[in-house]
Amino acid sequence: MTDLTRLSAARLAETLAAGEASSVEVTRAHLDRIAAVDGDVHAFLHVNEDDALATAADVDARRAAGEELHALAGVPIAVKDVVVTKGMPSTAGSKILEGWIPPYDATLVEKLRAAGLPILGKTNMDEFAMGSSTEHSAYGDTHNPWDLDRIPGGSGGGSAAAVAAFEAPLAIGTDTGGSIRQPGAVTGTVGVKPTYGGVSRYGLIAMASSLDQAGPVTRTVLDSALLHELIGGHDPRDSTSIPEPLPPLVAAARQGALGDLSGLKVGVVTQLQGEGYQPGVLARFHESLELLTKAGAEVVEVSCPSFDYALAAYYLIMPAEASSNLAKFDGMRFGLRVEPTDGPVTAERVMAATRGAGFGDEVKRRVILGTYALSAGYYDAYYGSAQKVRTLIQRDFAAAFAQADVLVSPTAPTTAFKLGEKLDDPLAMYLNDVATIPANLAGVPGISVPNGLAASSEGGADLPTGFQILAPAKADDRLYRVGAALESALESTWGAPLLASAPELG
Ligand code: GLN
Repeated sequence: MTDLTRLSAARLAETLAAGEASSVEVTRAHLDRIAAVDGDVHAFLHVNEDDALATAADVDARRAAGEELHALAGVPIAVKDVVVTKGMPSTAGSKILEGWIPPYDATLVEKLRAAGLPILGKTNMDEFAMGSSTEHSAYGDTHNPWDLDRIPGGSGGGSAAAVAAFEAPLAIGTDTGGSIRQPGAVTGTVGVKPTYGGVSRYGLIAMASSLDQAGPVTRTVLDSALLHELIGGHDPRDSTSIPEPLPPLVAAARQGALGDLSGLKVGVVTQLQGEGYQPGVLARFHESLELLTKAGAEVVEVSCPSFDYALAAYYLIMPAEASSNLAKFDGMRFGLRVEPTDGPVTAERVMAATRGAGFGDEVKRRVILGTYALSAGYYDAYYGSAQKVRTLIQRDFAAAFAQADVLVSPTAPTTAFKLGEKLDDPLAMYLNDVATIPANLAGVPGISVPNGLAASSEGGADLPTGFQILAPAKADDRLYRVGAALESALESTWGAPLLASAPELG
């Protein structure tokens, strides 16, 4: 029998529908794979074995009874630990939430459960989604399946590594500044940040509410479209949710896979290439552009001058919002509570002791930065200026989308770096997201498609690179059309999916 963990979600769905395997067998195969390799990869913080198998058995019984099921029914999935799951630990990678069991499900989790997707477990992440390497998790590092000494990207390194290591065919990530796309790029997986408001944020543990967006992490573009259609759409419990249906995403992916992009204009963003990008990353990027041209697209260069200030604006807006969102972790309501051992036990002193012990260094750094940027004397100089830059970036996008249907760039400037390499240098860490952050500031959707391998900066084995495609808000279908066209062109060049060449684990 074929190894069920090697199949895409779309192929698994067909296999289940044809009765060639049961969901219990598919789920069991993934749990066995987790048991075999997660000791090395550490993608999971919690494995939800019994509940996942119970869901699988239930789906099998319903299928046997002839019930009409969702296309992905019975296909297992992993969920980033920043998404709340009823009855299952949800720590957001932080000690401050250790032991907290949410009493409710996020809307997207409700949708997964209603459609019958067994939830394999919760994946590792940088604490409160702050980071680009998953090294800021309070629960240890996740390792890149391509090279266990390297980072899997972040903050959603656990979800990306789980999918790249064939521990899960599908995963959920969240992207505030790149945390779905950048891990996708460095692990050779597909990651999508939907249009802001396209997938409900109800039940996400918020980092920066105006930037956070949940989305799919998969091995193929079609799988992302299938998952995006399932989790997306209007949710009255999220006031920023778009009250409109999604554009047809699966249809766009299927059409794109036919490989005809004639009539499409692709804009290469001047500011998202060149200095700071590894030569191999740029070489793969230009090869991908050629493939798009061969598929009939017209490639033009567009300039977005305010993108040069995106990183600076992001690192004021994001900490400002995070400092407010994280104020609820006070030692009273959720998870950890630490009482001072010296002196009186007052509310303030419990809060200080709990936060001191429960938050890691990066979280403290950002809370301090955020409260400073919002303080009376500095608000206009920092937070106010950053919001103005945000408007300029939105205008740059509007002007660029008047010249091109989609914008493209490398997803991340470098291939996966070594664990520990950038841990003591916050600025170097922040620079990983130069190409992904503008989309969050403008609310537009983006996808990262694996587009080859390149030598790491210090040489050695080749590592995955990602190709980023951005579309106007609410035009997420364009990501799938262009992404699927690129994917099929690349795979016919390689003769197999990129991940087929990843080293064996276990
Ligand atoms: N790496 C960026 C940060 O540290 C983005 C994180 C994210 O998208 N959650 O903020």
